Amino acid sequence: MKIIKTVEDVRKIVREWKKEGLSIGLVPTMGYLHEGHQSLIKKAREGNDRVVVSVFVNPKQFGENEDFDSYPRDIERDSKICEEAGVDVIFNPEIAEMYDKFFSSFVNMDTLPNGLCGKSRPIHFKGVCTVVCKLFNIVCPDRAYFGQKDAQQLAIIKRMVSDLNFDIQIIGCPIVREEDGLAKSSRNTYLNDEERSAAVVLSRSLKIGKELIENGEKNAEKVISAIKSEINKEKLAKIDYVEIVDMNRLRGVDNIDGPILAAIAVYIGKTRLIDNFII
Ligand code: AMP
Repeated sequence: MKIIKTVEDVRKIVREWKKEGLSIGLVPTMGYLHEGHQSLIKKAREGNDRVVVSVFVNPKQFGENEDFDSYPRDIERDSKICEEAGVDVIFNPEIAEMYDKFFSSFVNMDTLPNGLCGKSRPIHFKGVCTVVCKLFNIVCPDRAYFGQKDAQQLAIIKRMVSDLNFDIQIIGCPIVREEDGLAKSSRNTYLNDEERSAAVVLSRSLKIGKELIENGEKNAEKVISAIKSEINKEKLAKIDYVEIVDMNRLRGVDNIDGPILAAIAVYIGKTRLIDNFII
């Protein structure tokens, strides 16, 4: 496995692979890898001749008061995980390699980024689309792997690939959870013991909502209320949003009569966590 820091060196190796007719799978990450990332890497390993994992904490997707500086980073640990998972290349660029001082082109999307996480993180998806677009142009993968954990991100990337005619298959992968139900996240490392116990309220409240729908509840507002009231029982939790949206346009629905995404963002102390289900 190689750890590559420059765009030029990734291009060189990708050119060689393409000459040999090898397929390439890309797993974009911000590092501090956990079993969620590992599940994406495993899928990429199974479906491609070569696997590239990018590890890059992208400053353009963090708002001013967000956790860019404190985001956990440990490339040595990430390298071990990738090596064991059979990754061929880690692309781990410095910020200046991705954004030179004259950098000024962004990928901006209408509509889909406006709701859900986009409401409280207004520049987030502009940064995500821009960096993913750059990674696609650098690595030229046949397939790219994204987690359902970030459901809005996955929907936006699929839209971007279709809108901008990338010849790349986007593969969504299910949410990997801790034993008690908490969705795995690099940000879980911010939680102290008390907060870690409280954080189970995200998956627990969603489970209640899901069961309501499975038992025939079609009124979205009632399901949202049930989820909110479970979260509000937890004193360390503060709701950012609880929404039920249609899968295509990510717009709020009144009636649950087609495929929907139920998505939540909740602060546990200072840490903002997200979770969701699709039904
Ligand atoms: P991140 O490093 O948080 O930017 O995540 C990189 C990729 O891993 C994204 O596509 C995420 O959706 C995915 N991912 C993160 N956590 C999980 C999880 N618990 N289960 C599945 N995929 C995940």
